[in-house]
Amino acid sequence: MSIAENLDIIRKRIAEASRSSGRKPEDISLIAVTKTRTAAEADEAVSAGINNIGENRVQEAKLKFPILASSPVKHMIGHLQSNKAKEAVKLFDMIQSVDSLRLLAEIDREARKNNKVLNVLAEVNIGGEATKSGMKPEELSGFLSESVKYLNVRVSGLMTIAPFLESQEKVRPYFKKMKELFEEAARFSAPNVKMEHLSMGMSGDFVTAIEEGATMVRIGTAIFGERK
Ligand SMILES: *Cc1c(COP(=O)(O)O)cnc(C)c1O
Repeated sequence: MSIAENLDIIRKRIAEASRSSGRKPEDISLIAVTKTRTAAEADEAVSAGINNIGENRVQEAKLKFPILASSPVKHMIGHLQSNKAKEAVKLFDMIQSVDSLRLLAEIDREARKNNKVLNVLAEVNIGGEATKSGMKPEELSGFLSESVKYLNVRVSGLMTIAPFLESQEKVRPYFKKMKELFEEAARFSAPNVKMEHLSMGMSGDFVTAIEEGATMVRIGTAIFGERK
């Protein structure tokens, strides 16, 4: 199957899932996760209609982005150390993996130097898994109220990676919890804090994520095939 054919199938599944949950397909953004893929593969996805790509490593993005023939919107989706914030701010349009105020402060500082206001998402570790990054759900409200100090970032939503479980019905409660957290967070609003995006759902669980309220899904394998 080609990248374009895979994308057709995914778009149909996104459309079905959004309709069955009373939303419009165009309200769901699809981010093609290009980690481990070549610049040519990323360009091919863009030719097939992709506008957003996601990478999880600064080092890889730094090599790949300059040789892209296309210019999609670029999302950082992997764990980011504060000392890499400087490079990340230059490379990406949105950083989805902000899991601490320390990192937010660093991104803000670098964004100010670059005369940018960077969109970021707060990453939440909804399954409480030791192997995953993200703040605890109970840390979110403190994070949001402190965020108002950092005017070169715009906290525009939440991101999570759900636990990998054997059935979608076991994963569903985690997406539900994220949606609740998102709605709670939406009551908190400041000029630079506004809940617009709920980024959840990957190749194995994006249909369930959309059914539970995702507005952004991040898909790699189902577009490009298995990673080596
Ligand atoms: C790799 C990755 C994805 C995509 O995973 P697939 O299972 O290949 O669709 C999504 N989000 C994050 C944060 C990732 O690191």
